Amino acid sequence: MRQPPDPTAPPAPQTLRTIPPGLHLVSTPIGAARDITLHALDVLAGADVLVAEDTRTLRHLMEIHGIPLAGRPVIAYHDHSGEGQLRRLTGLIAEGKSVAYASEAGTPLISDPGFELARAVAAAGLPLTAAPGPTAAICALTLSGLPSDRFLFAGFLPAAASARRSALEELADVQATLILYESPKRLAALLTTAAETLGSTRRAAVCRELTKRFEEVLRGTLGELAETAATRDFKGEIVVLIDRAAATAATEDQIAAALNSALASMSVKDAATFVSQTLNVSRKIVYKIALSRSQD
Ligand code: SAM
Repeated sequence: MRQPPDPTAPPAPQTLRTIPPGLHLVSTPIGAARDITLHALDVLAGADVLVAEDTRTLRHLMEIHGIPLAGRPVIAYHDHSGEGQLRRLTGLIAEGKSVAYASEAGTPLISDPGFELARAVAAAGLPLTAAPGPTAAICALTLSGLPSDRFLFAGFLPAAASARRSALEELADVQATLILYESPKRLAALLTTAAETLGSTRRAAVCRELTKRFEEVLRGTLGELAETAATRDFKGEIVVLIDRAAATAATEDQIAAALNSALASMSVKDAATFVSQTLNVSRKIVYKIALSRSQD
């Protein structure tokens, strides 16, 4: 007798679908294994060649979804794999093979390898396509409570403190929600520097472990979030989002007047930080005014 379908069984692999020649960039889950599209499963089931940043992770994902390797090797590739590997893969595509590429998690190329490969395939005039899906940046943006009409994804800022401060200063006046990736051990330092350079009253959000068991979204000002991060141990994967600079109502003369009084008791650097926080103006602008006035 025919059994009714088991609703808890993984979806049947779509092995009958033919995947056309070319490079297929496959987005994979950023946490919950079921966050993978049917298109991505089709590509993984039917591609001639499987390529991954981490071959074990891809094999495990395929196992979860009941997709057999069927004798296909899984080739390791990242952007430092070298010219030889790049030529080998573009050669396979040129021969008419369908090649699936998945990075460790989320969308390839987004703070992940794949750029060199995709660029080489496009430059050679070979077919390049995507099975799009999850990316932590966009998932976090939708949960952050910050404006989503314009955003700037800046990935991981430099790890060194002074380079990170300069990077934040460069981003200070961008009229878009800023999206940053950060490791939990640098979160407190990032938020403190962001509060100093962008103003402690700017709205921000910390999105942690998205789609996973301990998913958490903290919303507040940069100052509040920096304070929380200084006293709490954050674990897991983190996206930091920062609101755009508020249109400042302070004129250059008002900034200069505030600077004059602050400079009576502070260094230029401290006065710039203080005025930027009190008037809610980017520190970069205040610092520029401070320097130009000190040269007059
Ligand atoms: N390609 C991935 C994507 O599309 O989002 C990003 C890979 S990057 C190497 C890893 C970083 O992405 C983490 O350090 C974290 O900043 C962010 N991330 C990835 N998964 C996340 C998750 N589930 N929750 C929060 N952030 C995540």
